[in-house]
Amino acid sequence: MNSHLDDGPRATAQPVRAGGSVLRRRAQKALAALAACRLCPRRCGVNRLAGETGWCGVGRLALVASAYPHHGEEDCLRGSRGSGTIFFAGCNLKCVFCQNYDISWEHRGEAVSAPELADVMLALQARGCHNVNLVTPSHVVAQILEALVIAFANGLEIPIVYNTGAYDCVTTLRLLAGAVDIYMPDFKFWQRAVADRYCRAPNYPQVARRALKEMHRQVGALEIGPDGLAVRGVLLRHLVLPEDLASTSEVMRFVAAELSPHTYVNLMDQYYPAGRVPEHYPEINRHLYREEFERALELSWRDGRAPERLTLLTLPPPRRAFSVSISGGAGDEPNPGGQPRPCPVRQAADYSRR
Ligand code: SF4
Repeated sequence: MNSHLDDGPRATAQPVRAGGSVLRRRAQKALAALAACRLCPRRCGVNRLAGETGWCGVGRLALVASAYPHHGEEDCLRGSRGSGTIFFAGCNLKCVFCQNYDISWEHRGEAVSAPELADVMLALQARGCHNVNLVTPSHVVAQILEALVIAFANGLEIPIVYNTGAYDCVTTLRLLAGAVDIYMPDFKFWQRAVADRYCRAPNYPQVARRALKEMHRQVGALEIGPDGLAVRGVLLRHLVLPEDLASTSEVMRFVAAELSPHTYVNLMDQYYPAGRVPEHYPEINRHLYREEFERALELSWRDGRAPERLTLLTLPPPRRAFSVSISGGAGDEPNPGGQPRPCPVRQAADYSRR
């Protein structure tokens, strides 16, 4: 029996956005919870309203590291005018290989009030961005809700993207229902021991699976409009790690079998040693080999498993959607002009474009 969740249309987001009162009550609830914060699975219990900080390192106010039209996101998010990306400092996960170590681990950002954060969102919309892309938002959901109440009341209309490491509580995600249009979780680890070693979160696989199901329940599979831009739904990311430490094929199988075979996946090959890796984690202190990425793909498709129906998106380069290619790594061959190189696995699998 196919156990994946229904891909049918979801309730419109308008009532939550338009009225204000529902979202305002949720924001108040989330803000009150900061007094003994258990908004994410770390469940620190610290009083963030009084300035205490837990694992994420952020107190009452959200910290914004940067905000700008980002032209490096997936095609369906960046379009021609960019994705309105807001990078939040601090993180509830803190992977040792984080490529934004200064932001996530060292909390380098500027404290912003709710009206200021709302202004940032509205300014991105005014610049023509296609969406507001909240990067690393899990530890500042309360602050985001507080800002969205103001921003929606002042004309914020573009889709809201929740760009997360997927270490999210279902109860917290439910506060976002109807306000977030696009969930972009990065499903990082399948094995408890691996999640424990690289982000001190052995329950990550279980938490992420639940979170993904809730995200899919809220918004369904990704919908892309006639202009090629994402409108609503789940867009999954997954970073292939050296030595298959991310258990890519297991993640793909879960997504196809228990989420939806129509899930859009960006399978990423750009791992490089960053953060604490060079000094403390010799086993992953190298780039991903091209062969490892191909092997991860091959295992994902092998034996006619459900992932054969997954759709894969690429990050640039190349700038072509709905295909799989390999953008390079240490030891990889040069790719003059950044032209897409067909993946032999894709050719062999002959999966359909959707
Ligand atoms: S949001 Fe931060 S303080 Fe709250 S439980 Fe998570 S890591 Fe701890």
